[in-house]
Amino acid sequence: MPKAPAIAAYDPQPLRDRVVLITGGAQGIGRGIAQAVLGAGGAVMIGDLDAEAGKACLQEWQAGDRAAFRQLDVARETSVRNWVKAALERFGHIHGLVNNAGIANPHQGPLHALSLATWNRYLAVHLTGAFLCSKHALPALKSVGGAIIHIASTRALQSEPDTEAYAAAKGGLVALTHAMAVSAGPQVRVNAILPGWIATDAWKKPGERHAPKLSKQDHAQHPAGRVGTPEDIGALAVYLLSDASRFVTGQQFVADGGMTVKMQYA
Ligand code: NAD
Repeated sequence: MPKAPAIAAYDPQPLRDRVVLITGGAQGIGRGIAQAVLGAGGAVMIGDLDAEAGKACLQEWQAGDRAAFRQLDVARETSVRNWVKAALERFGHIHGLVNNAGIANPHQGPLHALSLATWNRYLAVHLTGAFLCSKHALPALKSVGGAIIHIASTRALQSEPDTEAYAAAKGGLVALTHAMAVSAGPQVRVNAILPGWIATDAWKKPGERHAPKLSKQDHAQHPAGRVGTPEDIGALAVYLLSDASRFVTGQQFVADGGMTVKMQYA
């Protein structure tokens, strides 16, 4: 009889020597993902519209040659092309891409008053940005084998009133995830994370940083007993970027403390 498979040791540094590009990586959830990647032994190239926030990350992390920042507008193809090029010049390889940049406020007012410019801006940053970054990073990702994560939202699945542009953009990201997974495999895996309510106040740039003001009720409405943090999303991102998830692609992962499975009766 063949020998039984051996017990594999848990790897505390699953992203050792891996390079991960993170859009909107200077604040909020993106910064949480960047810190989780650094904690897992990886290197990060963060891109963000906010240069002050990006420089503050490098200053505060003191991660040496494992962290780099370049200003980026994900909605502009030239900016994306230059950001990916800068990452390759700096690190030589790209093993992961996290399309996280977004306009955090989902409320745009009633549909009859929604301007085409606002609609287009939401789609440009959330959806076109993910397309452009994936397009320019894919050749490098394919050459070494890698993973892409799109940061969507539970708002791809359920809504409050007056959030059409945000919801449509996030729903588009979920569809982009399965479409890309079947095209980019087997070298590159593509998954989506759908965060619920994540408190980002403590993860802003220094001048705007403060402790989150959350009530007992805010926490208690979650089956998990609390509002989420960027660390909660970072932990899932590390799993999806690492070899531990090598059989997982084209999927959407809700991280929302159980909010979307709670039945609601008025
Ligand atoms: P945030 O505002 O704290 O951080 C977003 C970062 O993206 C900022 O640093 C901002 O400067 C940057 N950014 C904005 N537009 C950009 C552009 N065009 N190019 C490059 N960078 C740009 O927001 P967050 O709450 O951390 O949200 C991050 C992502 O997570 C977004 O896609 C958001 O839709 C999604 N999300 C957030 C929550 C939540 O509760 N916070 C829930 C679900 C999904």
